[in-house]
Amino acid sequence: MSSKSHALHPYRSSSFMEWLYAWAAPKWALNPTMQAVRNGFLLCLPLVVAGALAVLCNNLPLPVYQEAMLTLFGPDWKSGLFALIWQGSFGLLSLPMVIGISHNLVLVHNQENPLSPVSPVTASVVALGGFLVLLPPENMTGYLGVQGLFVGILASLTAIWLFLRLVAVKALQMQIYSEGIALAPQAFASLIAGLITLFVFAVIGLGFRAAFGLSIQEAVRELVLLPFRFDVFRNMLGSGIAYVLVTHVCWFFGLHGTNVLDPLTRDIFEAATQANLAALAQGLPPPHIITKSFLDIFVFMGGAGTSICLLLAIFIASRNHGSRRMAKISIAPGLFNINEIVLFGLPVILNPVFLLPFLLVPLMLTLVSFLAIRLGFVPLPMEALEWTTPPILGGMLATHSVAGSVLQIFNLVLGTFIYLPFVKISDRIKAERQKVAQQKLLEIACNNTVGPSGKKCLDRDDEVGSLARILAHELELAMEAGEGLYLEYQPQVDGRTSRVIGTEALVRWRHPVFGPIPAPIIIAISEDGEFIRHLGLWVLNEACAERARWHEAGLAANFKTSVNLSARQLDDESLPEKVAQCRNAYHLSTPMIGIEVTESVALDPDAMHNQILNHLHDLGFAISIDDFGMGHSSLVYLKYFPVNVLKIDKVLSKDVATSKISAEVIATIVELCRALKIKVVAEFVENQEQVDCLQTLGCHLFQGYFYSPPLKGDDMLSYAMRMNATADMAELGQNAKTN
Ligand code: C2E
Ligand code: CA
Ligand code: CA
Repeated sequence: MSSKSHALHPYRSSSFMEWLYAWAAPKWALNPTMQAVRNGFLLCLPLVVAGALAVLCNNLPLPVYQEAMLTLFGPDWKSGLFALIWQGSFGLLSLPMVIGISHNLVLVHNQENPLSPVSPVTASVVALGGFLVLLPPENMTGYLGVQGLFVGILASLTAIWLFLRLVAVKALQMQIYSEGIALAPQAFASLIAGLITLFVFAVIGLGFRAAFGLSIQEAVRELVLLPFRFDVFRNMLGSGIAYVLVTHVCWFFGLHGTNVLDPLTRDIFEAATQANLAALAQGLPPPHIITKSFLDIFVFMGGAGTSICLLLAIFIASRNHGSRRMAKISIAPGLFNINEIVLFGLPVILNPVFLLPFLLVPLMLTLVSFLAIRLGFVPLPMEALEWTTPPILGGMLATHSVAGSVLQIFNLVLGTFIYLPFVKISDRIKAERQKVAQQKLLEIACNNTVGPSGKKCLDRDDEVGSLARILAHELELAMEAGEGLYLEYQPQVDGRTSRVIGTEALVRWRHPVFGPIPAPIIIAISEDGEFIRHLGLWVLNEACAERARWHEAGLAANFKTSVNLSARQLDDESLPEKVAQCRNAYHLSTPMIGIEVTESVALDPDAMHNQILNHLHDLGFAISIDDFGMGHSSLVYLKYFPVNVLKIDKVLSKDVATSKISAEVIATIVELCRALKIKVVAEFVENQEQVDCLQTLGCHLFQGYFYSPPLKGDDMLSYAMRMNATADMAELGQNAKTN
């Protein structure tokens, strides 16, 4: 490996990173339950962003701003607009999270069990009920926000698990009829399952309180605070490390660590600040290094997990579009130590890739900063600052020394460096996930089955659907801007003379992030997005323009460029005129353009399609039937449709040399087409053996990799000119011989 590529991938050789990748990729990226949880987070992202901005607006540490707000809106301004937004977002965040996660869990179930779908709305309502009955009655509102999220996630997972099992029990399904019609069938069918689920949750909640004397939420909190009851943690460095560790483990599982440990912050670290101040007032050296200010200034830079370092690492190392965009949205609140957007958006919460650096970075920074102060490099931060004071500035303000800022910068660099390799692993996992979704989308696009709404992929609820929606949106933009879209041309060759007789135009799209998008996906999303006519005309126009350039370059007038038409384009009555107009606009003759439609479309008895094809045929455009042999049409139909060329599908041509049946079917097709004066082109011709077999069966026109893959316009022209010049020479030689 060259030194350059080695430098680009400094962590590639690390076997720990490889292990992490192999371990985390299936667990996190491809596990459907985890995907559902992640999608639940993403669903709530607008609320998270609103909450983060509201917190920022209320706490912006700019005296001018704070004073201006005070004079403009009076002393209660902090409980005004932004407090309301906070209340509707962070204040209730567990509720939409429970709904979002449950909804996505049911979508996964429905995707896996298409024959027994469950209403995601009904199930989410049941899960929400399950979550609500677990709340401690005396402090319900205290656990509706981020504080309740951990139990919320558990409640969604268990409630949906139980509900789906109960719904599947036939005996519990209930139908209510009114005048012979089933009323809201899905909701009633799952009524009893929902009732049982809620009942079970209520019993669990009551039983737990009876057994332990407190609610599940409170028990979780007590459990988290438990380590601090031991004397070992009374020593300040020990309690500092334990505090940092526990806060981050909490955050990782979706528990608001800072809030849960709030009593501890007051009892230990704010008390330490007070003790320091008291000592200072008496002229004594301050006894404690680890105080609330110490943690805020040197460890929680950008919020829990020193997440400003994570953002910097993403900016430096990530090539993933989504991660970079998330980091961009997070950076403004992140500078003021508000980090919920990146925690839920990337996400960091429950993401095994980030568990280690999320714990390691703050721990390392605690130790490093402790040492720097203990060794006298940096003064103790004595000034209590707003927690939103940005890093670098905060270090100087709190310590009254530039050394404070220098230590913060050192910490930022160290933290970013630790995050870097994990960002790369996360990128790789995201790329892997994207690849899986793209592969699935391609399978769906190539498949002819459409959903109940008549769409193939655009209205799917899974990752494939969201990939399709992103692509459809960006394809429309690409068409408007004329960027990334182009055509390639695959030659069609007469095997007897090696003369190139025509070409097929194939649409190509190079996406700036996803790379080349396979043509069937382009077509499927254009059909679903209902802009296939627009795309079809773009292709037609582009192919005609290129054909005109080839004409000027001296290509023979009977050289035909065939353009593929989708079934949806044949719903457009004005299509034949549009094709003729395009031909005229580029001063082409009719034989220079051909039309390709698939077998199922061409031989479809649909009157409209038939009428349009006949019209095109009457105008003189050659009609090719593509993928012949795929559908179930009878050969006899060929007599009744306007057909000039028949293209034998790959299922037949690929194994012509090895399958007797394929060879016999092709022989029959060739014979019939000879009688009906229809040309036969074999597609997917990849080797000499196929060519020889097909020639003995009477098929002489070929398209496939044996001759050439699809080529850029200029290359297509050179290929045709070169091949045809050689054919001319051979013909001349032959003529000379016979004369
Ligand atoms: P198609 O019309 O059957 O096009 C032939 C496909 O097979 C092309 O794939 C071509 O690149 C590929 N191919 C050709 N020879 C060989 C070979 O020897 N071996 C192998 N393995 N593959 C070969 P592509 O470009 O991905 O197109 C796929 C389909 O997308 C096309 O199938 C066509 O149905 C559709 N399509 C492409 N461009 C357009 C377009 O502009 N409009 C419409 N409506 N459909 C298009
Ligand atoms: Ca075709
Ligand atoms: Ca084909």
